[in-house]
Order: sequence, then structure tokens, then C-alpha cells
Amino acid sequence: MSSRIHYTKPSITELEVEYVTDAARNGWGENCYAYIQRFEASFKAHLGARHAIATSSATGALHMGLAGLGVGPGDEVILGDINWIASAAPVTYLGAKPVFVDVLADSWCLDPERVEAAITPATKAIIAVHLYGNLCDMDALLAIGRRHGIPVVEDAAEAVGSVYRGRRAGTLGAFGAFSFHGTKTLTTGEGGMFVTQDDALFNKVLAMSNHGRVAGNPKQFWPELLGFKYKMSNLQAALGCAQTERIDELIAAKRAVFQAYRERLQDLPLRMNPQPADTVNGYWMPTLVADEGVAFDREALLQAFQADQVDARVFFWPLSQLPMFESRPENSVAYGLYQRAINLPSYHDLDEASIERVVGHVRNAFAIS
Ligand SMILES: *Cc1c(COP(=O)(O)O)cnc(C)c1O
Repeated sequence: MSSRIHYTKPSITELEVEYVTDAARNGWGENCYAYIQRFEASFKAHLGARHAIATSSATGALHMGLAGLGVGPGDEVILGDINWIASAAPVTYLGAKPVFVDVLADSWCLDPERVEAAITPATKAIIAVHLYGNLCDMDALLAIGRRHGIPVVEDAAEAVGSVYRGRRAGTLGAFGAFSFHGTKTLTTGEGGMFVTQDDALFNKVLAMSNHGRVAGNPKQFWPELLGFKYKMSNLQAALGCAQTERIDELIAAKRAVFQAYRERLQDLPLRMNPQPADTVNGYWMPTLVADEGVAFDREALLQAFQADQVDARVFFWPLSQLPMFESRPENSVAYGLYQRAINLPSYHDLDEASIERVVGHVRNAFAIS
């Protein structure tokens, strides 16, 4: 019987083991923030971002960032209907309402025209989620934001390695949120990062991130405002430091896996993650979408994968289909996409033989139909 092909798993070398071991041995007392500060500095340098705050998750980074922008009860926040719930949940934590709009058929990201049509006087922010590494049309979204005085924020949880016109994903909007969950391109087990170019927003979120304690206040244990506790531990940050030293290698490996699939599937009636001119796609998750009208049986492919111990994942469901949100079947692109789409295994050192095995099942699925 052939071995299991995991859907994702982190790339861990001696460097990660060495740093985490050092953090466990020495990262306490006066050193208790050393790896956290170093991780923030190195990740920020990689991005070319001005400010960064390491967090326990992207969910937490989004929650604090949206709070920092003043999102609150009665407000509306616009985001794409195809997405992971982690981008929408923080909106609800603040008492605001997520407004799900349709996505583009090629990028599976926010359709700028639908965004503009969904703006109301209650709209407080637009969340641009770079899905599976695919970039949102940031020029169009930022122009809409400027026109209406609404901040555009980036959920870059899946976009390590993605570059839009020379700027890294996460550095273009009012703030960016990253995830270092175990499935992501760069991992700390669980973890995230809030990044921004905006000094005032940074200072606000920094105070919030420390239970409302404002930097420089000589009065101990004196919160000035009601804050949050979404901190990353020094142990996790040690892992993050090693991963950031290897970030170019991690991104290159993800891109190589995508390329290997792309070459082997390009004759089939399907689309994969796009990489428009003047952008780089970090290809967090190689995804295929069968062309419309092709009789592609997603369930049959999932069963074939399962029988051969291949972990593949279904494309995200439209969030507006979930029981806690209002249904939006008029988002026809989102509602049409997920049934024709699947994510392929893509951990960094996936070998040729495994890629061939996955491709074989995909080709069968298209041959049968
Ligand atoms: C993974 C992910 C998140 C959540 O990240 P956590 O670190 O698990 O909170 C948010 N948004 C998107 C698009 C993601 O893929």
C-alpha cells in the first residue's frame, strides 16, 4: 500500500529545532521577548512593512486591526463570499455585519464592481482576502476605498510570497493580517502577524494588544482602554525566526509544487491559480476549477483520492451558505465555483512521484467525464 500524501505539513529543519530549543532553555526572564522582537523585525523586513505585531492568530490580528479602525456595532464590512470563516468572524465579534459580495471567476477574489455596489452609509471597511495566494485587484479596490473614504484591509493569511506590482501582499492596505497556522506557507504552529504602514493605527493596535496598556505609562498594570490578549509566545516566535530565515526557500518550494501540477494538467479543461502580469503568486494552495459545462464529478475525485490515501480539500464554501449568515445565492460566481473546485496537496517537499500520483487521479476524473 502506498504512503499517505498529506495535504500540507510544515518544512522543519535543524534550524527550527535549534531556535525552539534555545527559546525553551534560555528564552525567559530578560530574554522573554527576544525571539518575538526578532521575528517581528525579520518578517517586517521581508515584507518591507513599517510596523508589525506578532499575534496568536490571523483571526486575532484581524480582530484587533478592525477594532483599531473603529469598526463596531451596526457597521458593515464588505468581503468576498468564497472564503474561510476566520476573515468574517472578527467582524461579528465587534458587533458589525459581514456583507458578502461575489468574487471574480478568474481570481476567486473580490469583484470590485460588486464591492462598490454594496457600499452603504454603514460600510466601515473592505476586507480584501488574497485567496490561496491569488491577489485581489488592489488598484481597483484601493481606488474605491479612496473614493468613498473607506479603508481597505488585507487578509494576507494565504499570501506569503505574493507580490502585487512590486509590493508584497499585506503592505498595500490600511493593515495586513497574516497567519502562521500549521498549514500555512510559513508556520509557528499557531500564530499570526498584524502589519501596517500607519503610525497612528499601529500605536492604537499596540496598546490594544497589551490589554490596553499604553507604552511609556509609568503606572504599572494600568490599562487605559479595554484591549485584547492575542499575543504570540517567545517559543512560537523562535520557530518563526527560523522559518523567516528560510522564507525564500519556503516560497520557492510552494511555487515549484504549483508549477509541477500546472505543467501536468495544462491540457485539461480547467483553471488553476492565476498569476496576472506584474504580480507574483505565492501559490499557497494549488487549486483547480473545472471549466463550466465540463462534467466534473468532484465527489468521485475526492473518493478516489481518499481510497489512495491522498489528502485533498474541498474549495471553500460560500460563507453566505453557512447557517449563521444570511444566504446570498445571487452571488452566482461564488455559488458556481465551489462545486467545480478542489485544492491539491502542496507541502514544500512533495516529491515528483507523489505529484504524479495526485495528477493521475485528476486526469482519471477528467477522462471519465
Ligand atoms: C488561515 C486563514 C485565516 C486564519 O488564520 P488563523 O491564524 O487560523 O486565525 C484567516 N483568513 C484566511 C484567508 C486564512 O486562510
